[in-house]
Amino acid sequence: MSLLQIRGLETFYGASQALFGVDLDIAEGEVVALMGRNGMGKTTTIGSVMALTPARKGEIRFAGKTIQTLKPHVIARLGLGLVPEGRRCFPNLTVFENLVAAARPGRWTLAEIHRLFPRLEERRDQLARSLSGGEQQMLAIGRALMTNPSLLILDEATEGLAPVIRHDIWAVIRTLKQEGQSILIVDKTLAELLPCADRCFVLEKGTTVWTGNPTDLTPELQDRFLGV
Ligand code: ATP
Repeated sequence: MSLLQIRGLETFYGASQALFGVDLDIAEGEVVALMGRNGMGKTTTIGSVMALTPARKGEIRFAGKTIQTLKPHVIARLGLGLVPEGRRCFPNLTVFENLVAAARPGRWTLAEIHRLFPRLEERRDQLARSLSGGEQQMLAIGRALMTNPSLLILDEATEGLAPVIRHDIWAVIRTLKQEGQSILIVDKTLAELLPCADRCFVLEKGTTVWTGNPTDLTPELQDRFLGV
């Protein structure tokens, strides 16, 4: 069943148009990679789904419901969990407080999050601002999961992190996939992203220009769509 369906999405920043017709589909249980060079519209697409940068044209349907007229907090409550670029936790709350702040009942409980990220249990009573960048990213993912989203959205979740932490986060993403969590992911690490994704959508200048299986994204296509 289709979980998220985007058709002909157009989004503006003031008078400046950023998206010119984005189409995207995610079925339940799928991991979908949203790809494209810098500035092609990935973050804006995610922002439009979450109504942070509202769409001006097109349709966004989530679990069969048109959502592009709704407010961000309503959309979040429908079951969309965002881990934004640049990981945003509450700096003056503890790890525990961050995790339980937006918690909703479901599969992902505090114990489950501690199982995924043992470090968060070790740092349970530490203020979020005192965590390393990697730990803050783990906390951002844990926090989003605690809302038990039907769709988890990860925007550059491993960017700027030490290799060992990146490795841990990818291991968690693969566990989430195995457990049937639907995920929309933006990430530049193709070697990790492609084996994990069920399907890819490539954006160029705010338009979906290619859709397919990761195995069909040949080195030539990677160079054409993602090369610098
Ligand atoms: P990146 O990987 O660099 O984040 P992206 O694919 O996520 O790239 P977006 O950040 O969505 O791309 O940017 C799409 C377009 O919208 C770009 O032309 C960008 O300059 C423009 N844009 C993004 N944010 C703003 C903003 N706050 N105000 C005006 N234009 C913006």
